[in-house]
Amino acid sequence: MKTLIAANWKMHGNLDWVQKPAEFRALFPQNHDTIDILLCPPAHMLAPMTRAAAACNIAIGAQNCHDQVSGAFTGEMSAEMVAETGARYVILGHSERRALFGDTDAWIAAKTRAAQMAGLIPIICVGESQAQRAAGQAEEVVAEQLAKSIPTDADGDNLVIAYEPVWAIGTGLTPTIEDIAIIHDHIRGCLTTRFGAKTADKIQILYGGSVKPENAKAILALKDVAGALIGGAGLEMKSLAAIAAASEQA
Ligand code: PEP
Repeated sequence: MKTLIAANWKMHGNLDWVQKPAEFRALFPQNHDTIDILLCPPAHMLAPMTRAAAACNIAIGAQNCHDQVSGAFTGEMSAEMVAETGARYVILGHSERRALFGDTDAWIAAKTRAAQMAGLIPIICVGESQAQRAAGQAEEVVAEQLAKSIPTDADGDNLVIAYEPVWAIGTGLTPTIEDIAIIHDHIRGCLTTRFGAKTADKIQILYGGSVKPENAKAILALKDVAGALIGGAGLEMKSLAAIAAASEQA
């Protein structure tokens, strides 16, 4: 399975950042066989970024989309509109969207369906809060989010899951390597129940939450970790390239 190294730029950057794909490739020359690189910039950069990234064999993704095709939804972008920019992926259900913008599991499922119908690959984010982990509920929470955020008619061949413990995002904290392995194994089990082993075994499960060049190798060496969803460290091409290099070593 290929490794997917994905950077979520959140609401950072400006149009000068169209140079970042070339900057990244200068630091980390092409390696198509084992690693896919994905940059997820803010919406206004999607179209110019896809053009700039194509020459560098880097994919572009959005950070959200709406579940409806069109309509009176001020400030929103449909999955078709995202696809029209040339983007190939869309992050759905990031914990910031769940906490700040009312993304429920049901809405994430509707967005996932819309994204797949538009030809996009959704990256569905799941993960427990600090309190839920402390209460020993991490596996239960993740299973429930997966059950409700993946639509019943989802195409398992075009789906990525990101395990992002909420308490690890932007905090410098990470679960232990053993805990990451346990949850990823659990996610694989949930996906196997849903899609069957043949499809589930091909679904990339990313880890996200304070991934840095220093911890990337140990995390990416885990059997069921097929890549990383990176926030802070993905804003700098030097650290993103170091994470990609660590994944090659892993
Ligand atoms: C994220 O926001 O998805 C994330 C993983 O952020 P960070 O890498 O900064 O923890």
